[in-house]
Amino acid sequence: MAAAPALKHWRTTLERVEKFVSPVYFTDCNLRGRLFGATCPVAALSSFLTPDRPTYEEAVQRDFRPAQVGCSFGPTWWTCWFRVELTIPEAWVGQEVHLCWESDGEGLVWRDGEPVQGLTKEGEKTSYVLTDRLGERDPRSLTLYVEVACNGLLGAGKGSIIAAPDPEKMFQLSRAELAVFHRDVHMLLVDLELLLGIAKGLGKDNQRSFQALYTANQMVNVCDPAQPETFPVAQALASRFFGQHGGESQHTIHATGHCHIDTAWLWPFKETVRKCARSWVTALQLMERNPEFIFACSQAQQLEWVKSRYPGLHSRLQEFACRGQFVPVGGTWVEMDGNLPSGEAMVRQFLQGQNFFLQEFGKMCSEFWLPDTFGYSAQLPQIMHGCGIRRFLTQKLSWNLVNSFPHHTFFWEGLDGSRVLVHFPPGDSYVMQGSVEEVLKTVANNRDKGRANHSAFLFGFGDGGGGPTQTMLDRLKRLSNTDGLPRVQLSSPRQLFSALESDSGQLCTWVGELFLELHNGTYTTHAQIKKGNRECERILHDVELLSSLALARSTQFLYPAAQLQHLWRLLLLNQFHDVVTGSCIQMVAEEAMCHYEDIRSHGNTLLSAAAAALCAGEPGPEGLLIVNTLPWKRTEVMALPKPGGAHSLALVTVPSMGYAPVPPHTSLQPLLPQQPVFVVQETDGSVTLDNGIIRVKLDPTGRLTSLVLVASGREAIAEGAVGNQFVLFDDVPLYWDAWDVMDYHLETRKPVLGQAGTLAVGTEGGLRGSAWFLLQISPNSRLSQEVVLDVGCPYVRFHTEVHWHEAHKFLKVEFPARVRSSQATYEIQFGHLQRPTHYNTSWDWARFEVWAHRWMDLSEHGFGLALLNDCKYGASVRGSILSLSLLRAPKAPDFTADMGRHEFTYALMPHKGSFQDAGVIQAAYSLNFPLLALPAPSPAPATSWSAFSLSSPAVVLETVKQAESSSQRRSLVLRLYEAHGSHVDCWLHLSLPVQEAILCDLLERPDPAGHLPLRDSRLKLTFSPFQVLSLLLVLQSPPH
Ligand SMILES: [Zn+2]
Repeated sequence: MAAAPALKHWRTTLERVEKFVSPVYFTDCNLRGRLFGATCPVAALSSFLTPDRPTYEEAVQRDFRPAQVGCSFGPTWWTCWFRVELTIPEAWVGQEVHLCWESDGEGLVWRDGEPVQGLTKEGEKTSYVLTDRLGERDPRSLTLYVEVACNGLLGAGKGSIIAAPDPEKMFQLSRAELAVFHRDVHMLLVDLELLLGIAKGLGKDNQRSFQALYTANQMVNVCDPAQPETFPVAQALASRFFGQHGGESQHTIHATGHCHIDTAWLWPFKETVRKCARSWVTALQLMERNPEFIFACSQAQQLEWVKSRYPGLHSRLQEFACRGQFVPVGGTWVEMDGNLPSGEAMVRQFLQGQNFFLQEFGKMCSEFWLPDTFGYSAQLPQIMHGCGIRRFLTQKLSWNLVNSFPHHTFFWEGLDGSRVLVHFPPGDSYVMQGSVEEVLKTVANNRDKGRANHSAFLFGFGDGGGGPTQTMLDRLKRLSNTDGLPRVQLSSPRQLFSALESDSGQLCTWVGELFLELHNGTYTTHAQIKKGNRECERILHDVELLSSLALARSTQFLYPAAQLQHLWRLLLLNQFHDVVTGSCIQMVAEEAMCHYEDIRSHGNTLLSAAAAALCAGEPGPEGLLIVNTLPWKRTEVMALPKPGGAHSLALVTVPSMGYAPVPPHTSLQPLLPQQPVFVVQETDGSVTLDNGIIRVKLDPTGRLTSLVLVASGREAIAEGAVGNQFVLFDDVPLYWDAWDVMDYHLETRKPVLGQAGTLAVGTEGGLRGSAWFLLQISPNSRLSQEVVLDVGCPYVRFHTEVHWHEAHKFLKVEFPARVRSSQATYEIQFGHLQRPTHYNTSWDWARFEVWAHRWMDLSEHGFGLALLNDCKYGASVRGSILSLSLLRAPKAPDFTADMGRHEFTYALMPHKGSFQDAGVIQAAYSLNFPLLALPAPSPAPATSWSAFSLSSPAVVLETVKQAESSSQRRSLVLRLYEAHGSHVDCWLHLSLPVQEAILCDLLERPDPAGHLPLRDSRLKLTFSPFQVLSLLLVLQSPPH
């Protein structure tokens, strides 16, 4: 040591070291200034611009024109391909040489026809390593291509990230040159930054922080940036510090490389395909250089895209998966929204995902992975269990606006009692950088101290891709075991969860849904996407059922397995957490609508084909088949098509999951068992509709003044109040426009008042009665509604059409009920749950806007009121007011969201007893699954037929489909669930030729002990509350 020890001032010492590594100050003499040595321009640069996204093979054929550094290109969503010709100076032999590339947009380097690395300034990837050490005989000339997408990691928002994209944005190439890279300087910079991080993070009360600061200071003393021979002494000082290990009780951080890529969000689906390539090829390069680096990757859809567009990259991913470095996780097709998809759709996310992972990577995933979604259904634990998964990782609940979730590691118990182990990375992020600050936060923030001593740490740029960098890895490797800090190991999710499981005795349990106290507007935003989702879930349900029945009854029929897989995958894709939620840009919303249109048109063709096959050979009078795709007998009024495009109403009865012939027209009216519908308009303009079950009274503006359950005389509307009251709210969130509706919007409630005299009688009664009215919502928006009551129907329907042209307004409809209860019930996937109707605690109040599927109900003992819908998801019940959220008008990221025409239906059902006994669940299904009138090859069958029926109303046969496995082409899969929340035994009646029945899991894997005795075409099934059961039915060959 040259100098005698001196007293040191904390701040000056710290800032001295900061200046030594600063990229801004003193770079003429500090260490950072020496990171790169000699530079040399590229030999030649040329480019071409295209609005398309051509493949490499197409691109290299194009006409490249000379280009230079400083050139600009664009606009947004275009692509600029650069050809880069390089000659490395001979004098650089023995050195590490980089291509330094800085441009706006997201770049991808191609070498010898294969993608090799992403280049994105925002993702801290601005240099491509040409050689670690240039050899004497190495070729020094080569040609690379750089494909630059004209969008940033997070799209191209104009002015803010979530603003609508700026279509005119231009991009610039600011640097393209060769440079010598000094790896030893880089490693010293990493060490000095970590030491600074420790000094700052542990603070002045900590002995270890002074050791870190003084080590860094001494390194600066001995290190002369201009004299590389001084570096080893400095390195030795750092190594000594980082080699001082912590004790046995140290917390362990499991660092896993990660790159969250939203499957579509602020950029279109097609750009995501390239984001995957850019991000993953960079991760592969890091795996090659760092054999201990492990990278977790979710979303089968993205892997499937890469497989078809970048087959070479896909093979390399498979190779690194075998080595255990590339780790597929999640098990789902995409990282879907956790609230809105139906139960069956959630099952299909796993079915499509797990089968893809098995086929491409040899095994299924053992962790469900959903870091970034807006809430988590209480049925997810059971669905995970059924799909071979007991572990779940997410972190989004750290975004809760009101209440801080009390755990990071816990057991989650679902609606049926299934339990899974859940971990939220305690750093509350999935885009860590490997800094000391994040490592310390992970330990300090852990809410389960003393219960869980292991944490996940997901590092790498994310949301728009990007992923980890070598610098992040260098940091984490250096922190493997240093006194004063947690241990850091590069781990897989499997290693993390195994460590958590092995010491889980003290973990707490959370029961029921994981509700996110934010982003509650996503239940409503982009109503057309929501409608497409609900409708396409129904279409695929119906196609699968009818195709299955046709398969069972006909040897000729070919089950459309490949087409159904394609259509399901489109639906599942749209259930991505920024698409079905409506939080995407206009371009994505339009693509999503095209996906729905594909499902509608192909689905309807498949429905007709199945119906034709189903009744082939049966004699009958007319070429029309009435089909009921629900598992109970239904008697309903339906509109039957007549020649010439007209319709006529008929009352039809169709057995459970079966069909019926068209009733002879003349015998209709006398056969009516029920009272016809009476419609009366009073002189004051009000209208009463009465079908003997319910009596509906509308005031002259269309509001509901009375709803009586006729048999008991019980009134369902609160005294002195009116239902069907439309209300407008100001809807200006704090930032996340499409996502958030804030609690304070409730303070801006304004009832929309109509004009007397607008109510008129529509259909005059008999089988159907209706009244309709117009309502001006605002100077720009209007609504028309037909209120419809059918013979025998226990609910009144409100067919609604809205022309909506608003900014930051929220439209809801309210029904004040003459019911008192502290809990309301909402349908969720395969069941329902209760939420409070009061705001007692902050947890209650934070749920001022919640999600539901097809129905919600407010009941007291013996009586209740249910509100059903055919495409809505946002809801709330406060006090005794049931409220359905209809339309929002956010302006970012899609300025056009929800503008225009909308059509939807909701229905109101007063009932005696409990909603279960009253058949609310069945009514909501009926509203969503109308009876079908399908053309049959003449003649259609003369008699009714039912394929399946159940002995208990508590059990719903949700799905009938062909088994996935190609070896089980003549097997059907049935999925049933207990919907009442009860233990129940149930008989399933079959009229299909079934040889064998076996219980299976949600992935259709038979349960070895699951053979069910088949007696008199009946199977006995036993359910616990909300249990989902799947059955494999092996069909006999049909007789002909
Ligand atoms: Zn996301």
